[in-house]
Amino acid sequence: MTQIFNFSAGPAMIPTAVLEQAQAELLNWQEQGTSVMEISHRGKYFMDMITQCEKDLRQLFHIPDNYKVLFLQGGARGQFAAVPMNLANNKGKALYLVNGHWSSVAAKEAASFTQVDEINILNSDRMLRVDRLDFSDIAEQYDYVHYCTNETISGVEIFDVPNVGNAVLVADMSSDILSRHIDISKFGVIYAGAQKNMGPSGITLVIVRDDLIGNARQETPSIWNYAVQAKSDSMINTPPTFAWYLCGLVFKHLLTHGGLEAAEQRNRAKAELLYNYLNSNTFYHNYVAEENRSIMNVTFTTDNHELNAKFVAEATKAGLQALKGHKVLGGMRASIYNAMPIEGVQALIAFMQKFAQENA
Ligand SMILES: *Cc1c(COP(=O)(O)O)cnc(C)c1O
Repeated sequence: MTQIFNFSAGPAMIPTAVLEQAQAELLNWQEQGTSVMEISHRGKYFMDMITQCEKDLRQLFHIPDNYKVLFLQGGARGQFAAVPMNLANNKGKALYLVNGHWSSVAAKEAASFTQVDEINILNSDRMLRVDRLDFSDIAEQYDYVHYCTNETISGVEIFDVPNVGNAVLVADMSSDILSRHIDISKFGVIYAGAQKNMGPSGITLVIVRDDLIGNARQETPSIWNYAVQAKSDSMINTPPTFAWYLCGLVFKHLLTHGGLEAAEQRNRAKAELLYNYLNSNTFYHNYVAEENRSIMNVTFTTDNHELNAKFVAEATKAGLQALKGHKVLGGMRASIYNAMPIEGVQALIAFMQKFAQENA
């Protein structure tokens, strides 16, 4: 079998070592004679597992003590609704910074629950660029300010944290969580679906500052209520136990491979390799300004649709999978999350060189 590299944007690669461990202990987890999926989530073994999982995550991500860690269901889209239900209850309006698809969808969903003001922060004159990050003059009239750190579809990432003064900052980090160091103390709420950079789909990480818990509007369903979930160890109902377990294995794996600092170095090295290659030729184009080029999702295109389709088809045959860009954008997208080894990026570049030579 030729070596396969999976560039899927999500659900995405999980480290091979993690999958092997899950496979090895599938039928007999913790000497229980059953899998982790078949035991009570309230029993000692599962509870010990989630305690360790949270401990590892706190260490890995440097989560301050005044933040709660929740593992919920419903994905990032669930949080698009949960955030306003939990936070928009004082001033009655929220500010959404929009720089792509997901931040725009988040704003639309929130508008069902609160008044939403949107500011487009994406400058698309020539290259896609985020050119405004200081909102300290207006932010405090809002219950919170929401933005998306990494727009997964276009590959536009915001590396600096917006300045919102003393206002509450909320971030959708679904596609760049755990890819680099973040100063969590600047945020009120951080959330991320697991299926890009943490584990399988079905579980959603929510990190909430303590003082923002307990103000949900009265009609908030229990499963979306941060206070209820915090009080019940994220188990107001049966959690996705296997997904939770796999996330725990991924956190442990990252910790034993140098933590986030080492992961960030690996991610930056992979992205630099690919962007340097894109810069070095005129056959492929990337339309994101240097300072906002995502280190997780690298988008590129040739001069025409037919050539793009040919590229994706031949790449797939060569073992480079899921390079087709999102349907709203077209072109190609290489998602190079934590689990993608540098060998995958090297193989992609070698293929791109060959394809360019044959089709120039
Ligand atoms: C994938 C993605 C989503 C949607 O996630 P679901 O878990 O499917 O709801 C939202 N935001 C970002 C940035 C994403 O990458």
